[in-house]
Amino acid sequence: MKRELYLFNTASSKKECFQPVNDPVSIYCCGPTVYNYAHIGNLRTYIFEDVLKRTLIALGYKVKHLINITDVGHLTSDADTGEDKMESGALREGKTVWDIAAFYTGEFMKNFRDLLLLQPDLWPKATDHISQMIDMVSTLEQKGYTYTTSDGVYFDTGKFPQYCEFANLDPNALKAGERVDMGEKRMVTDFALWKISPKDKKRQMEWDSPWGKGFPGWHIECSAMALAYLSAPLDIHCGGMDHVRVHHSNEIAQSEAATGKPFAKYWLHGEFLVLDKGKMAKSGGNFVTLEALKSEGISPEAYKFFCYSAHYRSPLRFSWEGVRASVQSLSNLRKGIASLGSQGVVSQQSVQDALVHFWGAVCDDLNMPRAVAAVWELLKNNNLSGAEKLEAIKQADAVLGLDLLVGVQHVESLWEKDGYKIMFIADTQIIGPLRDVLVQKALQRKVARAEKKYGAADSIRDELQLAGVVVKDLPDGSTECMVENFDKAQAVLCE
Ligand SMILES: [Zn+2]
Repeated sequence: MKRELYLFNTASSKKECFQPVNDPVSIYCCGPTVYNYAHIGNLRTYIFEDVLKRTLIALGYKVKHLINITDVGHLTSDADTGEDKMESGALREGKTVWDIAAFYTGEFMKNFRDLLLLQPDLWPKATDHISQMIDMVSTLEQKGYTYTTSDGVYFDTGKFPQYCEFANLDPNALKAGERVDMGEKRMVTDFALWKISPKDKKRQMEWDSPWGKGFPGWHIECSAMALAYLSAPLDIHCGGMDHVRVHHSNEIAQSEAATGKPFAKYWLHGEFLVLDKGKMAKSGGNFVTLEALKSEGISPEAYKFFCYSAHYRSPLRFSWEGVRASVQSLSNLRKGIASLGSQGVVSQQSVQDALVHFWGAVCDDLNMPRAVAAVWELLKNNNLSGAEKLEAIKQADAVLGLDLLVGVQHVESLWEKDGYKIMFIADTQIIGPLRDVLVQKALQRKVARAEKKYGAADSIRDELQLAGVVVKDLPDGSTECMVENFDKAQAVLCE
């Protein structure tokens, strides 16, 4: 019986108890447009999505997770006007579009690893899926959802009456918007599925299609890639709050018109990181990267910890003082954990009882500020042994993804009789058969030494040494085993 997880679904504007349609649970996250560095506001969205994924895994779900790479077709305006961000990025840097895409994809992946985010199962690239996009546009055309203008093929939102529902758009306000320049569009909400290359300009990225040489619209990319690997309805579709009105409304319209099925059951959106001047955006040129934070001595984990100071659906105000306070606070947390000591037995029941507040917060729409408060509470919980606190923090860290136990040494007595002890020191708890093997070897060595069979004693020491276990005799006659690497020791000694 899994714990109940409540998530706020943009589609219904309420918190709902999560009940997946698919096994594994499918998650599609709108990925970066790789024409520049990601700013830390973009990264906030991936951090919240990572918490979601880690939570599902910790609750026992299998997950299939995609993040796309947009390397073509995203225009500077979401409304199909302006320059292609990729082509203008190439112009800015005097490189080819392909070089720009490769470079900034690599930089994004580096940010992703630095933040200890779990890798998705797939990173589909838009330019690798042009034929799936053309197929989807053809299907929409055959079903009568499109019209063609001099610059492209458009989705006719007039044929999809529920278009305004997802984002609660006001059709009257949209009509007023029609007074602005719409080009050849029939309705202000119509959007490009395929853009035909301009006659007067040579594009670096363009492909043949039934409608002429051109390139896909940004919105069709996500629908085509999501449906190439996941079946409709997807369980969860995520993105930034700025995607709700246009990008996700468009994804829903074209996907549901093409497949005749609901596109996704749960839609989750992360709020912005805000500056005093408004949201952090690349278009204003005023943005902070993860590298910039690092050069100021702020680790990626500290930035992640800073993000946990607000709920993902609340705007988070960025300030250098605020992020520096998180550096300090995370360092205090680590110090508290490192000083715990790992003495005592572990009762799983006590650990689970101690995690009640933590799980209550996480399962209430991923409430990280409360979850972090619950971890502080755990540290101060007098009903738990050091070993139990470490076990509880390890389980919490599976969701937080902060590597909180790195550097924490477990010191534990493995065996004790008549004042003689076998101690071990390791960076993780020693569990399973390795425990018994270490005790057995240490006792054999003790017996050999007592019988003055020093050769035999030394060969046991050497055997342990080869497995990365360093044996030391303590002044009181006890034995200490320092395990350098649990996995290695287990592989060598427990075959
Ligand atoms: Zn998308």
